[in-house]
Amino acid sequence: MKRGLVLGSLIGVAVLSMVVSGQAPPAGPTPASLAATKIEKVKDNLYVITGSGAENQAAFSGGNTAVFITDGGVTLVDTKLPGWGPRVLELVKTVTNKPVTRIINTHTHGDHTGSNAAFMGATVESVVQENTKTNMAKMPEFSGANAKFLPNKTYKDKLTVGSGKDAIDLYYFGRGHTNGDSFVVFRALRTMHVGDIFAWKALPYVDTMNGGSVVEQPETLARAVKTVKNVDTIINGHVPIGTWNDLKEYAQFTKEFVDYARASMKAGKSAAQAGKEYTLDPKFKGYVVSVNPMFAGAETNLQIAYDELKSKK
Ligand SMILES: [Zn+2]
Repeated sequence: MKRGLVLGSLIGVAVLSMVVSGQAPPAGPTPASLAATKIEKVKDNLYVITGSGAENQAAFSGGNTAVFITDGGVTLVDTKLPGWGPRVLELVKTVTNKPVTRIINTHTHGDHTGSNAAFMGATVESVVQENTKTNMAKMPEFSGANAKFLPNKTYKDKLTVGSGKDAIDLYYFGRGHTNGDSFVVFRALRTMHVGDIFAWKALPYVDTMNGGSVVEQPETLARAVKTVKNVDTIINGHVPIGTWNDLKEYAQFTKEFVDYARASMKAGKSAAQAGKEYTLDPKFKGYVVSVNPMFAGAETNLQIAYDELKSKK
């Protein structure tokens, strides 16, 4: 049980539900997960190391890792589950000889921060939104003797690291998947890593224990769509590469879901009833309610939305 609890807090809600359901995630790379983890070119100097989606748990390695090659070294965005440092480094070395000099985490979950320690050193810059640092400090991997692996740079609303063609803009637009989700823009490459606030084309997957919000997520996404300019390519938390239009569409999808929650609550329907009646609008092509039956479906999301809407009254 201790192992289950530790893993749960490391990896966050996704795997917590797996642990709760008695299916512990792999403790480190397995042949299936190694095979599923590949490096793919996004644009010149930008690659993504895929993580299998949670729809295939046996091959689960964590979220998508961006590899950005700058003049001064390599920036990684997200580091996968614990135990993945060597494999990530091996794949980075297939595209550059430069060392990893900076880590950015889109949010706190262990499938995005789990291998930070493998890259941390005295000269490595490690950057997160300030709420994410607070969330990480509660995790065994970043507390006690491991506190030295905590990020050494934070920001509140916006931060730019690097300059010229190497500039990376980090934005925080409000609550969503957690209360510390960064939108990470590789400015010259018109590409943005959005982490798990848009992990899949599915209903929101919010971590209320780490400040996530179903009701605020569409507002946060709309702010991103309105504020960020000159991006055409999106790196999602778990699914392959998408487009700017995918992000716009997802903002609309989550907004319509919250509208549905409001209307259902007003009509006096329980979350269970409204969840049963919920159907995907066919205009959202390729969408599913949930990528994995263990993840939050319509009812769970509606219940979270109801609780939030009630507390706002
Ligand atoms: Zn996450």
